[in-house]
Amino acid sequence: MEIKRLSSDFLDSNTFVLTKGNECLIVDAGVKFSVIKTFIGNKKVVGVFLTHGHYDHSYYLEEYLKGFNCLVYASKNILNTLNDPKQNYGENFVVKTFDKIIFLEGDGEIKCGEFLIKYFSTPGHSKCSMCFKIEDNFFAGDTVFEKGIGRTDLNGGNVKEMVISLEKIKEIPFEMLYSGHGDASSYDMQRRNLNAYLRYLTRK
Ligand SMILES: [Zn+2]
Repeated sequence: MEIKRLSSDFLDSNTFVLTKGNECLIVDAGVKFSVIKTFIGNKKVVGVFLTHGHYDHSYYLEEYLKGFNCLVYASKNILNTLNDPKQNYGENFVVKTFDKIIFLEGDGEIKCGEFLIKYFSTPGHSKCSMCFKIEDNFFAGDTVFEKGIGRTDLNGGNVKEMVISLEKIKEIPFEMLYSGHGDASSYDMQRRNLNAYLRYLTRK
């Protein structure tokens, strides 16, 4: 499996394209459709997985849906974020197409084309935050960054939920962690990062 990180020009977020043979899976939708399409070419997109509904991760979702004619997989809590600019932080941004979204709840596993995706509900940065593990790769959205964690002070953010989510992630083995912004990080780097932030968030 190949992983390509594409960064959005004005949204400053990462969108990932995972390729296996002739199939691609996309994580998040913050990079222009034309850029993604150029990279993917004629390969088949089997699904788009959204780490959460903030506009910088979902802005081009409807273009992807039209262009790739695929399903979207996201938290069951994402609707209220995608259809409300106060929640997704895009000025006048709303997603209108919901009939192609498969809603995920809790933690579990789903097959999508040739890809096997483990999904984890990880609220804290937003109510609809999810992380995805595909092979040894962990896609953390805005829950965990290379050096840091996601904000908990936005609408739908919650420190207590973030602590529970970080504790959960700490127990999951992975090789590399790919964040919604910035660079990827190794498991060892994340042991230190997660421990430091858990200490900070749970300080007395
Ligand atoms: Zn976010």
